[in-house]
Parts: sequence; C-alpha cells; structure tokens
Amino acid sequence: MNPASPNFVAEALTTEEQEPSSRARSRAAGDSVAAILKVFRQGERFLICAHTRPDGDSVGSMLALGMLLKQMGKQIDLVSADQIPAPYRDLPGADGIRVAQRVSGVYDAAILLECDSLERTTLRGLSAFFLVNIDHHITGRTFADLNWIDRDAASTGEMVYRLAQAAGATVTAEMATCLYTTLLMDTGGFSYGSVRESTFALARDLVRAGADPIAIARDVFFSIPASRLLLLGAALRRLVCEGSLAWLWVTNHDMERTNAAEDDCEGIVNSALSVAGVQAAVFLRELPDGHVRLSLRSKAPVNVAAIAESLGGGGHMNAAGCTINGPLQSALKVILAELRAALAAQNGKIERSH
Ligand code: 5GP
Ligand code: MN
Repeated sequence: MNPASPNFVAEALTTEEQEPSSRARSRAAGDSVAAILKVFRQGERFLICAHTRPDGDSVGSMLALGMLLKQMGKQIDLVSADQIPAPYRDLPGADGIRVAQRVSGVYDAAILLECDSLERTTLRGLSAFFLVNIDHHITGRTFADLNWIDRDAASTGEMVYRLAQAAGATVTAEMATCLYTTLLMDTGGFSYGSVRESTFALARDLVRAGADPIAIARDVFFSIPASRLLLLGAALRRLVCEGSLAWLWVTNHDMERTNAAEDDCEGIVNSALSVAGVQAAVFLRELPDGHVRLSLRSKAPVNVAAIAESLGGGGHMNAAGCTINGPLQSALKVILAELRAALAAQNGKIERSH
C-alpha cells in the first residue's frame, strides 16, 4: 500500500490547520479520522508507541488502540522506551508492551501517541516508517506523514475512542478500562484539563461498556508505593510559597535515599498548586546526568505550555514540562524568572481590565 501519496497527506494537514471555526474543526477531525482509518484498513502490521516516561494517557491509549487494531484483524507491536509505571502495569494487555530503545521490522505505519516529534519517543529507528501522529497537546506539531491533533480532547484516549466509534468497533470492557484510565489521569480525576460536559458523557459510555470507575481509581490513586510518599515528604520539606507562585524540588540524592522510581515524581507538583492563592507551581527533579526536569502547573489563565515550549518542552496550557540544564539552583532561577514574568503579565492584564 502507499498511504503516503501527496494528496492523501495534504488533506489531513491543511484542513486541521487552516480553518479555525468549530464546525471546520469537526470537519477537519472527521477528515483526519477517515484518513487514519484508511491507513489502518489498508495495512497489516502496525507499531504503536508514545512518549518517554509514559503516563496514564500514554499507556491507556496505546493499549486501547492496539485492541482496536487487533479487532480490525491487524498485527500490532506496542513499544515503550521506558518501563510502564507501576499503577498501569495491571491494565489489560500492559504486559504485552515491549520495552526497547530501538525499533525495526516491517510495519505499514508507526503510530505515535502524545508526541510532538520523533525525539519525544526517545526510540530510534522510527524515521523508516510511515508515521501517524495522534495528539491532544496545545504544543502538538504536524511532524508526521499524517497528523491528527485535537487540542480540545480531554485525553488522547478520547481520540482513540472516536477512532473506534468511526471504525464501528465494539468497545470491550478491556478497551473501556484503558480509555477510562486515560480520562481519569489526564483530567486529574475530572478536575482539570479539558473537562467539559462531553467528558462525562464519554465516562458514562465507558462505564456502560464495562470500565469499573472504583476499581480503576483504587488502582491508580490508592495503590501507590511507599517510596512515592517518602519522596513527596522530601519535596514538601522544601516547599516555598511566594504570593501566587509555589515551588518545590527533589535532588538525585533524595531519589536514591527514598528508593523512588522515576514515576514517583508524578503528581508532586500538584501539592504546590493546591495551596490557596497559588496560580502557578513548579516541581524540579535533579536528574542523574545533571539536567533538571521541570513539571509546571497553573490555574487558568496562566499559560505554562508557552513557557515549557520556550525551554524546549511542551504540554497543555495548565500542565506542561521540559528538561533544562542544571545545576538545580540555576534551573530554579531560570524557571522562577519565567513564572514571575508570566504572573506579572497576567496580573497586569487583570488590573487593566478593572
Ligand atoms: P509532567 O509534568 O506530568 O511530566 O507533564 C505535564 C505535561 O507536559 C504532559 O502532557 C507531558 O506530556 C508534557 N511534557 C512534559 N515534559 C515534556 C517535554 O519535555 N516535551 C514535551 N513536548 N512535552 C512535555
Ligand atoms: Mn495526554
């Protein structure tokens, strides 16, 4: 098959980017869904991957998309550059995700979920394939041969659900469990991100299809390793609140001392954001190689995605991240300067509007 014919790719790219109205957006989404399903129907073998340090949306979307393609009679390989975090290892099919740094083989397409570039996967060998990009980040980019970016989707899993519906597939209980997990995690338990009325309709559909919301919440929120709490404790001891800004960090030594895994850092930043009056928060993680990874969060309308993007990362308006040069204290200086400027600009806007 040759899904990469110039017309085929251009159709999906131009409609997405050039027509801003909501009707045009849904037409563009329809075009993209149709184009992606055409690739699925014409091919036999597919590779599915997501970004490095996969989160609940990455893992749940990979698994659900794999199930959809299998239902369509296709062969699939699921590959991640990093280990699947503990809370998601019991999701249906998670043991079928292969951890590897390089991919090779014969695939009709490689499907990248939640990525703004090939590099975001940290997998080598992907450029050999026809690439399909499915993403919902505000900083998403049309880097692939076929791109579907829906910045309004609550999770990439929501987009996988739309593909399943358009394909006329049966949403099995296993698929629903994975998709519900993507929604739950990317909305922080239906409390932030792109939560809207339709999010609850989707959650209802998934529960009807067999997702168990209580069991899933128990698995992802109430089954954490003790190391995560010990690491959180180390970070909380360093919590600083300065007006509407809050920050906290962990050193690499803290990680070793508490025996923490990389994904134990997930969510620590939310503790800083949860302080009354705080509008923006950052968590810094000193990496073993001396770089510093930043997790940025804000309450609307502060746009942390723009800050993360300017520092080489990306994300959503109120949740973004990037990795910058250390040492820790100089990284802290850099990000605090950015956040203070963003907050001052925001406060200026509010004052001017009164
Ligand atoms: P977290 O702070 O939970 O690691 O990430 C928050 C959001 O920002 C997620 O949607 C994540 O995909 C995105 N993000 C985090 N780090 C990076 C990065 O280095 N590059 C890009 N493009 N996105 C990132
Ligand atoms: Mn996501």
